[in-house]
Amino acid sequence: MELESHIERILWTEEEILKRVSELATQIIDDFKANSSSLVLIGVATGAFMFLADLVKKIQLPISVDFIRAESYGSGTESNGNPRISCDVKIDIKGKHVILVEDIVDTGNTLSCLISHLELKGASSVSICTFLDKPARRKVHVEMVGGGKFYRGFECPDYFVVGYGMDFAELYRNLPYVGVLKPEMYQ
Ligand code: 5GP
Ligand code: MG
Ligand code: MG
Repeated sequence: MELESHIERILWTEEEILKRVSELATQIIDDFKANSSSLVLIGVATGAFMFLADLVKKIQLPISVDFIRAESYGSGTESNGNPRISCDVKIDIKGKHVILVEDIVDTGNTLSCLISHLELKGASSVSICTFLDKPARRKVHVEMVGGGKFYRGFECPDYFVVGYGMDFAELYRNLPYVGVLKPEMYQ
């Protein structure tokens, strides 16, 4: 069965996504070009892998790239509210400007846990660049560190979305667009 037939509705097409990613990259370049050699973009695995790849290709400055992994979801559609870092960064981020790159901010639990962790490791600032933001579901106020900024691609309506890195039960990450699954796919 073709993957496309699992999708009820497309929210953002590949073309719309790449256009927005370029705009975000331009903003980041403007904000960090003066000290880009101390800039580290850290993708939150696995969901941010596609966004991170597209984003860094558009930031042609001397930056570093790494991943961190946080688990909070299991295979369902609800966060368990207690994320845990299961794979840490490899790069020493002490004194660096960090941009945490996320697929989507929902309750905010994952991000606030990761921000505190990176602050403890001595990052001189922590900014957020999330592809999607679902402010309607926020439970935790996400506080940036050291004057860090908050970048977001799109505001997401309160649906469980898949594609462009985001999964349901580890499927659909490879869709180049973002969509909503047909209800029967959850059964
Ligand atoms: P939070 O800790 O903010 O509640 O959840 C953040 C993580 O939950 C995201 O990075 C993402 O991995 C997952 N998540 C939240 N909302 C969605 C959604 O609509 N679709 C998918 N596939 N994952 C989501
Ligand atoms: Mg994520
Ligand atoms: Mg997931």
